[in-house]
Amino acid sequence: MAKITFIGLGNMGAPMASNLLKAGHDVTVFDLSQPAVEALVAEGASTADSGKAAAEGAECIITMLPAGKHVEAVYLGEDGLLSALPEGTLVIDSSTIAPETARAVAEAAAARNLAFIDAPVSGGVGGAKAGTLTFICGGEEGTFNRAKPILEGMGKNIFHAGPHGAGQVAKICNNMMLAILMAGTSEALALGAKNGLDPAVLSEIMKQSSGGNWALNVYNPWPGVMEGVPASRDYQGGFLVNLMTKDLGLAFDNAVKNQASIPMGSLARNLFQLHAGQGNGELDFSSILRLYKAD
Ligand code: NAD
Repeated sequence: MAKITFIGLGNMGAPMASNLLKAGHDVTVFDLSQPAVEALVAEGASTADSGKAAAEGAECIITMLPAGKHVEAVYLGEDGLLSALPEGTLVIDSSTIAPETARAVAEAAAARNLAFIDAPVSGGVGGAKAGTLTFICGGEEGTFNRAKPILEGMGKNIFHAGPHGAGQVAKICNNMMLAILMAGTSEALALGAKNGLDPAVLSEIMKQSSGGNWALNVYNPWPGVMEGVPASRDYQGGFLVNLMTKDLGLAFDNAVKNQASIPMGSLARNLFQLHAGQGNGELDFSSILRLYKAD
């Protein structure tokens, strides 16, 4: 069992750290939110006054932070973690950030003989709680093999997508498709409801038909159709609209840099940005349904 420091205990990070404890690892946690830290300490984690202090003596660091600027703040610069860690420490960033940022952190880590991989995840809060996340890793094979047994404590499918940044590229592609599917699912359910169909019945029909997809199967956006999903608790918790908007921005920037055409992704970005601008940024992303359905 490893001595692990986990930084970033939000909707995803808290259940992930909790699963590492259950797997028998020695886990030290840090977050800017004191209640988030206290919840993990109550489960058996240790803590410290800062990320740097929490990282002392760790064999492995895992971060699960909102965006690239938080990852840069935690790792880079004179006061960043990379300058304090002993050589050989395994560093895993599971946040969804730009591939370029992941590569910059990887380069800074390599300069200090630290083993870094980007390992963003898919599977949502449900997957984080159940320990069934998909990890999509980018980095050297040896580092991936070192990280795999630790990631298996939090996930079911552990992929090596390619070199540094490749995990983030795959994750950005996945989330762009997810945004398109969630908006399309909402649109179809709202059209059916306008025609008097029961959204629960329509959902079952589409699940068994060619329109079936992840949003319908495990994350239905229509309130009351599925138990335990954000739509059935007023879109609280889950994956925030602000984070989906960030990911669609990453896809858009990446497409511009690579001269790729992403018409559906661009439309999805605009829909989620519009929704965020209407004061819904802190709701789960399945609340995009509200653009189509008047309450
Ligand atoms: P969140 O906003 O719920 O949690 C982020 C946590 O990081 C917060 O607790 C915050 O206090 C903490 N934090 C921020 N800056 C910090 C710092 N400098 N030091 C220590 N702690 C700091 O976000 P989340 O939903 O857990 O998502 C985390 C990442 O995972 C994001 O990049 C997101 O895009 C990605 N992701 C989320 C989901 C999901 O369903 N929520 C699914 C897959 C991937």
